[in-house]
Amino acid sequence: MKTEEVLNDLQRRFPNEPEYHQAVHEVLESIEEVYNAHPEFEKLNLIERICIPDRIFSFRVTWLDDKGNVRTNMAYRVQHNNAIGPYKGGMRFHPSVSPSILKFLAFEQTFKNALTTLPMGGGKGGSDFNPKGKSNTEIMNFCQALMLELWRNLGPDTDVPAGDIGVGGREVAYMYGMYKKLARENTGTFTGKGIEFGGSLIRPEATGYGNIYFLMNMLKSRGIDDLKGQVTAISGSGNVATYTAQKVLELGGKVITLSDSDGYIYDPDGIDKEKLDYIFELKNVYRGRIREYAEKYGCKYVPGGRPWGEKCTIALPSATQNELNGEDAETLIKNGCIAVSEGANMPSTPEAVEVFLKNKILYAPGKAANAGGVSTSGLEMTQNSMRLSWTREEVDEKLRRIMGDIHDACVKYGVESDGYINYVKGANIAGFMKVAKAMVAQGVI
Ligand code: NDP
Repeated sequence: MKTEEVLNDLQRRFPNEPEYHQAVHEVLESIEEVYNAHPEFEKLNLIERICIPDRIFSFRVTWLDDKGNVRTNMAYRVQHNNAIGPYKGGMRFHPSVSPSILKFLAFEQTFKNALTTLPMGGGKGGSDFNPKGKSNTEIMNFCQALMLELWRNLGPDTDVPAGDIGVGGREVAYMYGMYKKLARENTGTFTGKGIEFGGSLIRPEATGYGNIYFLMNMLKSRGIDDLKGQVTAISGSGNVATYTAQKVLELGGKVITLSDSDGYIYDPDGIDKEKLDYIFELKNVYRGRIREYAEKYGCKYVPGGRPWGEKCTIALPSATQNELNGEDAETLIKNGCIAVSEGANMPSTPEAVEVFLKNKILYAPGKAANAGGVSTSGLEMTQNSMRLSWTREEVDEKLRRIMGDIHDACVKYGVESDGYINYVKGANIAGFMKVAKAMVAQGVI
């Protein structure tokens, strides 16, 4: 296998899918050597079979808005790979959603899920529906209409969706409610559900908490045991960003930035627990904008900006893909940043990743660092199958252990001759090897 040849072929067959090509490129570059050391992989054309999704559902969703207008959106579900378990991955509602973005996310999800140590395949779905400014009824109408089309392709042992950008507890509940009505079963075919109907404790917190657990494992390798004295810049102000901030505060660190798609806030005094509670309320109850934080607490707000120019020792990108470029990466390093741990999926551009690796800082790619979310989803599936619920402490303990195991797997495959741990390489090889071995064992299907 030659990375460039495979990529050229995918670009010819699937043109105009830049995010998908970007994600595939990064993985192939890391695994080329290992892949070529296993002739049985090439004999089974594993590389094409692992890069191209098993199937993609693509459909129109028709729904009624509050004024009685009939509206349409496109929706998709990418079932990428089920070699090690049912397809598993979130649903994203955002106007930018396209087949390319969902294919990149489903591809990444396959390796991430393999890393979690739990039996889950990879999938992803979503719609170009924009939830911003919609009423509760409109959100419910849309979720129900989407489920009418998709439900037949889901199931507890087939495909188990969850949340992602624009899809939180409210949207999961509306989708799951309709799914249940149509499928006439109650087996938990969604994760991120409400606690009253099969959800797991710690699931809302899991991606953010898991990212910090992963970060702590990385810092330990440099002799750092807590976050006292560390200044963190976080992007986003949604599910992942807010719980990341909560865990940073709990471990004694300082949080100086948060953002949304309109701009970022910079609070030199630090966003403390009380201010963070305000953000939870602002975002989850009023669905407000991060600008309102600056108005309330009188700090700097930069419209249209990204937080990477603010001086920090740790950067935690937690908003969206390609939100941190090569120039941002250079600035972070110049300002003394020692670690970048990704809460979002593929937030750093290839140029930024190159800068981090060249400077040998601690850099954790999303597929390892943010795997705590899907890991806890896996734990939710287990609890649903067993028809019982674990305590907060039990789930948190399992999450910590899984993040530690993912870290160890990255070290196993990512340590370089000078001792530097290349977490990109480590995560890609560890995830790939597990999926590849399962595919080889299962034959040509
Ligand atoms: P939310 O919808 O809760 O929050 C997303 C945040 O990112 C919001 O503040 C949003 O701002 C901002 N944002 C979204 N799109 C853009 C954009 N194009 N430019 C700038 N800011 C943007 O989503 P999550 O917190 O769940 O997801 C954040 C990231 O984490 C995503 O990359 C997701 O794939 C990843 N992730 C999430 C997991 C989970 O468990 N939820 C698990 C693993 C990864 P605004 O409100 O203005 O849109």
